[in-house]
Amino acid sequence: MKISTRLIIIFITIAIFATFPGCAASEPKRYSRSFLGAFDTAITLIGYSNSQKTFDNYADQAQERFLELHQMFDRYNAYEGVNNIYTINHEGYNQPVKVAPELISMLEHAIKWQEAYPGAVNIALGSVLEIWHDVRTEALADPVNAKLPDRQTLEEANLHTSIDNLVIDETTNTVMLTDPELKLDLGAVAKGYATELVTQELIASGWDSFIISSGGNVRTTSGPSAGGRDTWNIGIQDPEAALSGDEDKLLMTLMLTNQSVVTSGDYQRYYIYGGRRYHHIVDPQTLEPSQEHTSVTVVTEDSGLADFLSTTLFILPYERGLDYIEEIDGAEAVWVLNDGTVKMTAGLHLLIQDTTAPNES
Ligand code: AMP
Ligand code: MG
Repeated sequence: MKISTRLIIIFITIAIFATFPGCAASEPKRYSRSFLGAFDTAITLIGYSNSQKTFDNYADQAQERFLELHQMFDRYNAYEGVNNIYTINHEGYNQPVKVAPELISMLEHAIKWQEAYPGAVNIALGSVLEIWHDVRTEALADPVNAKLPDRQTLEEANLHTSIDNLVIDETTNTVMLTDPELKLDLGAVAKGYATELVTQELIASGWDSFIISSGGNVRTTSGPSAGGRDTWNIGIQDPEAALSGDEDKLLMTLMLTNQSVVTSGDYQRYYIYGGRRYHHIVDPQTLEPSQEHTSVTVVTEDSGLADFLSTTLFILPYERGLDYIEEIDGAEAVWVLNDGTVKMTAGLHLLIQDTTAPNES
């Protein structure tokens, strides 16, 4: 939570510097709203609109929808009247659970992506992730008694992570599990997927001049930003500086139009054991937190795919991730490797704001 708030602060700083004082009175004004309660992070909507009232209507729509989608994708809590991931995990063994069409669609997207980019993210890895989640939660509450999960317990849990045991019936909007120990976890993709849905719904409502930032996931639109400019300036946090306490330092600023930028990092959620950091992204090959990178940032239009890919690339070695990214039209990435080396795709250079040029804002 603390780190997410930091990301927001940085993002807002960037957004403010993107606004500029020379707007004519008739031009749309910049408005913003931040709210808590969804996806364990602060979510910020910043946009240009003709009136506070118009902005508030869109912001109400976005906020309400984020809260709804948060409940739908939540694996840790049950909600009155909602069949969500928790319900599927607890009641879905050999029993179809009726869910909202958005949840069906989200599961189908995730399955399609994990088949296309295998070896890293698996939304059926919940039983393994739960073990790490629990030891991390305990370690954060009581750091002196921090421990590692028992290896055998991890390996037993890993026997129950086959996506083939998730049965989806689109005609009845039901989901069923055919392994009693299978648990779904949408953490790698839920926030980005929700951000994309909300973005598309706001665009369908007639507004396309905004950005949404939801804790490391940013979605920009194609409508004008400050002063009619068609790019939005988005700062990427420097992960090493963040780890040593300098949360405001940026690795770079990207200039984006109708694109998402999503970062996965090992500095976001972790505990320390034996002097080593154990973070929240688990390599399914080793069943341990992956050790390849400090952060990976992905740029692509669809925020759900960007979220999925940032976690995927975070787990995979640089060369394999690069192969994946190069297959996808318009997708770019930046890796900060464990030794501090920064690597990026060729097209990413074109998106970086030239800090040596005079600031156009
Ligand atoms: P992100 O912050 O988007 O990189 O996602 C991290 C979250 O994804 C974790 O908190 C877990 O809920 C989930 N997760 C971690 N490792 C994996 C994995 N290998 N496959 C699927 N989900 C994962
Ligand atoms: Mg992700």
